[in-house]
Amino acid sequence: MTDAGIRCARRADEGGDTDETTLRLVAAASTLARNAMFSGRIDGDIAILRTVLDQIPDQIYVKDRQSRFLFANRATLLANGATEQEQLLGKSDFEIGDRESAEGFYRVEQRIMDEAAAQFDIEESLRRGDQTKSWWLTTKIPLTDDQGRVIGLIGIARDITQRRREEAIRSGQSTLLEMIARNERLQTILKTLVLLVESQIDGLNASILLLDAEGERLHLGAAPNLPSAYNALIEGIAIGPMVGSCGSAAWLGKPVVVSDILQDRRWADYNGLAQLYGFRCCWSTPILTQQGNVLGTFALYGREPREPTAVEMDLVAMATHIAGIAIERQHAEDRMHFMAHHDPLTGLPNRSFFKEKLSQTLHQARMNRQHVVLAYVDLDNFKRINDSLGHGAGDELLRQIAGRMLEFTRASDLVVRLGGDEFVLVFANQSRGEGDILPRLHQLRASLSKPMTIAGMTVSATCSMGIATFPEDGETIDALLANADAAMYRAKQLGRDGLQVFNGKETPAAIAAGDRLEELRSAIAGDQLYLDYQPQIDAGTGRILGVEALVRWNHPELGVQPPGHFIPLAEATGLILPLGLWVLKTACRQNKAWQVLGLPPVIIAVNVSPRQFCDPALVGQVRQALSETGLDPRYLELELTENAVMQDTDSALATMRALEELGVRLSIDDFGTGYCNLAALKTLPVNRLKMDRSFIEALPHDATTSAIASAVIALAQKLKLGIIAEGVETAEQLQYLRNSGCDEVQGFHFSAPVDAGGIEALLRRAG
Ligand code: C2E
Ligand code: MG
Ligand code: MG
Repeated sequence: MTDAGIRCARRADEGGDTDETTLRLVAAASTLARNAMFSGRIDGDIAILRTVLDQIPDQIYVKDRQSRFLFANRATLLANGATEQEQLLGKSDFEIGDRESAEGFYRVEQRIMDEAAAQFDIEESLRRGDQTKSWWLTTKIPLTDDQGRVIGLIGIARDITQRRREEAIRSGQSTLLEMIARNERLQTILKTLVLLVESQIDGLNASILLLDAEGERLHLGAAPNLPSAYNALIEGIAIGPMVGSCGSAAWLGKPVVVSDILQDRRWADYNGLAQLYGFRCCWSTPILTQQGNVLGTFALYGREPREPTAVEMDLVAMATHIAGIAIERQHAEDRMHFMAHHDPLTGLPNRSFFKEKLSQTLHQARMNRQHVVLAYVDLDNFKRINDSLGHGAGDELLRQIAGRMLEFTRASDLVVRLGGDEFVLVFANQSRGEGDILPRLHQLRASLSKPMTIAGMTVSATCSMGIATFPEDGETIDALLANADAAMYRAKQLGRDGLQVFNGKETPAAIAAGDRLEELRSAIAGDQLYLDYQPQIDAGTGRILGVEALVRWNHPELGVQPPGHFIPLAEATGLILPLGLWVLKTACRQNKAWQVLGLPPVIIAVNVSPRQFCDPALVGQVRQALSETGLDPRYLELELTENAVMQDTDSALATMRALEELGVRLSIDDFGTGYCNLAALKTLPVNRLKMDRSFIEALPHDATTSAIASAVIALAQKLKLGIIAEGVETAEQLQYLRNSGCDEVQGFHFSAPVDAGGIEALLRRAG
């Protein structure tokens, strides 16, 4: 039989990974096969050829009709855990590896030989001895003799383990990032992450532990394949330099690789536990925030003493990165939820929480025929303290006052900060009216006015208090609040530092509001409203990119009123619609006027109140304002509020789409104070977020809020949303924001709101 006597079948439409050279070498291998099969002799040429085949990283082998190895190049030997030909030759897969994979190979090979038809690019997995599983892209070609009888096959296999692993990790990663963006539960995300890592490595189990808010203890995040009893035993473990791998890694903020638990001092106290469950090595890596703060740990446990491989450490790096994003997102969500209901300065519940809670309390009181007492508290000299000692001292005073109120009240009472220096206390379940409570309130007033030390100085603040009782003084939240407020004003009028019980003789709040409404109506129709504009600055270059229009009311008697004094009334009565329309037109006209003057064009941002946003006329009005003033739509941005956008998402989306079609930009104002979640935003046509001032206020000293601010910026970037920080007052805040990747900033640090002439001057200077 000649060389030509053995042929290998070829597929006409050559493809896959098997290239021409390899095929030629395969043909040569058949010569080797023949030698081995018939003469047992290897001559000089063949020996050279054999050397060549050994250099090829792909497996090349020849098997006989019974699938026994006749020839194996070096790559084949290595893949099968052998070093010498003799270890494989004459053997079938059944004698080399596990039965299951041997059966798989045998079945395929016998079919190829029975049918005399090659198979290309079969994905096969192989595990030999204690080697990790490898993946191969294999082509098997039948060998025929002169008569066309199939006498064996040639196999060529390329190692695709690395590629498979990378593909699996890439797709796992994108699944995880999607889960994060979809706001799935943190526990679910972490479990998926652990399973992904475990699927890529053999014989190791992973665990994720989360560090608590105090930075002291670790709690289970996910460890689906560690024994649950083990998880239960380490739950809540305090971190420290000698606390196993995870406790030590969290303590140090650095990876801790323990290759032999029985020999490592850090495991001395937990040795028995590890032995109980058969753990011999444990490598733990801290999960960090972008700023390097520890969020938790990611650990791999093994049952043999050893060091991690480079591949394993790469996986750990990927896992800690993803876990970090997921945990930071969760922290941001938690914080936003808390902020929606609490005042960041004092940690007390805020007005929105108060309304929710009080309506339940009143409902219960109605059913149980009980009384509820409301005490409205306003500090007397807060403004003076704030102005003379600075905002920092003012904030500290409010915190200490809040602390005293909490000390004084019981668990069933409620203390709320309404805003500024105004607080409300609610005493539920009173069987009689305010009579029982008054002595306590006098005590509270005495306690609040005791001196306190702030920034090394002794300060004291008195307060005025007004009391209203349900149901006598009002049956609704608004009535009770208004009447307690009216009583508090009487206390102020009577010389402050006092307590007044509502007596029905105060000016009814409704009448006062009615007068004011008429005034506001004529202010809109007349020319008492005007706009100031606050620049929005590129955080990198310092250029003015936009201005925000802020409305003011020049009241004939009271002087200039900030929007906080009349927008709520306008919103509550519907006057916001004509007011908002006036603002929109005036702002567009002004922006066009700057452009006509040849100033560098800027975007004008106009606030749209929730009621305006729900008004079906809005889109038409915007279109009209643009066409009347000739302003290019791309220079108009509408600032919407989170809650308006989230209330009725379908119709909100329709409105936003219609506005987007007009070509105007949309942003979410005061982001972080409402109920919006970032994942939902992804589906809305929003250009950017305006991060609320309460975040910025805390920068960079409040570590938690700072971390959240960074997380919000990072997530906004991920969702390809622009982000602007509001209320930037200091260079330090600016620096922090720049470092976190915030695009734009607005605040007193650059400029307070100024009139149109002021903006013109600023733009001229820039241009
Ligand atoms: P906003 O839209 O969040 O506007 C930013 C507010 O923060 C402005 O208060 C601005 O003067 C203030 N501010 C800017 N930089 C700083 C800073 O560095 N530190 C501090 N402490 N404050 C800063 P303003 O003008 O009193 O407006 C208050 C709110 O009234 C606005 O909040 C907006 O919600 C509303 N508003 C203003 N104009 C309009 C309007 O035309 N229509 C509607 N619907 N609402 C308006
Ligand atoms: Mg705004
Ligand atoms: Mg805002």
